[in-house]
Amino acid sequence: MKISDTQLQMVDRQVKRLIAADNFYGRKLKDAGISEVRNEEDFERLPFSHKQDLRDAYPLGLMAVPEEEIVRIHSSSGTTGIPVIIPYTAKDVDDWAEMFKRCYEFAGITNKDRIQITPGYGLWTAGIGFQLGAEKLGSMVIPMGPGNTPKQLQFMMDMKSTVICATSSYALLLAEEIEKQGIKDKICLKKGVIGSERWGEKMRKRISSTLGIELYDIYGLTEIYGPGIGINCKYDTGMHIWDDYVYIEIIDPETGKNVPDGEFGEIVLTTLVKEGAPLIRYRTHDMSRIIPGECPCGSKYPRIDVIQGRSDDMVKFKGVNFFPKQIEEILAQNADASSEYQIRISHDDGRDTLRLYVEAEGSVRFDDLADKLASDVKSRIGFTPIVKVVEIGVLPRSMKKTQRVIDERVE
Ligand code: ZN
Repeated sequence: MKISDTQLQMVDRQVKRLIAADNFYGRKLKDAGISEVRNEEDFERLPFSHKQDLRDAYPLGLMAVPEEEIVRIHSSSGTTGIPVIIPYTAKDVDDWAEMFKRCYEFAGITNKDRIQITPGYGLWTAGIGFQLGAEKLGSMVIPMGPGNTPKQLQFMMDMKSTVICATSSYALLLAEEIEKQGIKDKICLKKGVIGSERWGEKMRKRISSTLGIELYDIYGLTEIYGPGIGINCKYDTGMHIWDDYVYIEIIDPETGKNVPDGEFGEIVLTTLVKEGAPLIRYRTHDMSRIIPGECPCGSKYPRIDVIQGRSDDMVKFKGVNFFPKQIEEILAQNADASSEYQIRISHDDGRDTLRLYVEAEGSVRFDDLADKLASDVKSRIGFTPIVKVVEIGVLPRSMKKTQRVIDERVE
């Protein structure tokens, strides 16, 4: 996906603004000998930025405008060490709300809806983003915040909420609770807007069928604005990204080069109009791909696939990048295969081989299943593994996260 002339002009403005502000980021660009962005080559010369750069700028080193223009900060929940602080101007807050409003509109939500918001409020960007977009749309907001499930359900029934905003795990918890209490006929939900977590197709189906609602995935991260920079439409063919606010690239995480549309790689984001803390070529470590072609909805906003995992999870084999999640999906679609598997990659006699160990019940014909899985991997991912089907219980179990990929190739 090529960067457009309009986007280039916007990046040029962002770069010049940063250099003039002489903030942490502006100095980084100046050190790299950058003064403007006139064309695609200039753009590709822009250095990537990383979460560590943002931490190094703690607390307010990212601020690119005079302090009197900053109206708010948000902070990403750093699990370890120093958090990242993102300052927002009034326009940034408004732009974010505008993007979030567009998300709701793409999901077919209107000012007649009643939106129950369960993500947290505060330093985290979640709850307040959901709220501002909903208010801009003119919907009735029920700002619950997280937890207190009995109260959530009470309000959901009494207020006749039609939209639930939640993380996937909380949406599942609510769905199970509604089922358990047998109160589904008192619930008026039609749609769910789900943010901030990676989730599997099985979980998604469970939530949508238990509640009888349509689900929409929202994308975004605090470093950029927060959730709300993209969402899937009703055709569910990937998340449309608002590329009039954020330019999206997909790169090979090892080489840093852009990959062709349709290929998986790491999402890199550049803000196009942000004032408080513009980010240039920010590496998200989220892995996805651009979905080529046009969406049946007719929207020109580019689409990305479901987030496949973190860049550290990616496996490279015979020139093909793939994720364990793709193997999981293939197993999930073959009823004879269990969910346990292991991938072992080795290098023998000058060539790489990939063995896929899969468990199945003793009643299954192992050879047939192995052939089927090998051809599924070939057609869906692009290489032929050596599939070994073994009896249930043979593969190692772990109390912690099970190691799925063992790479014995020597670097
Ligand atoms: Zn669409």
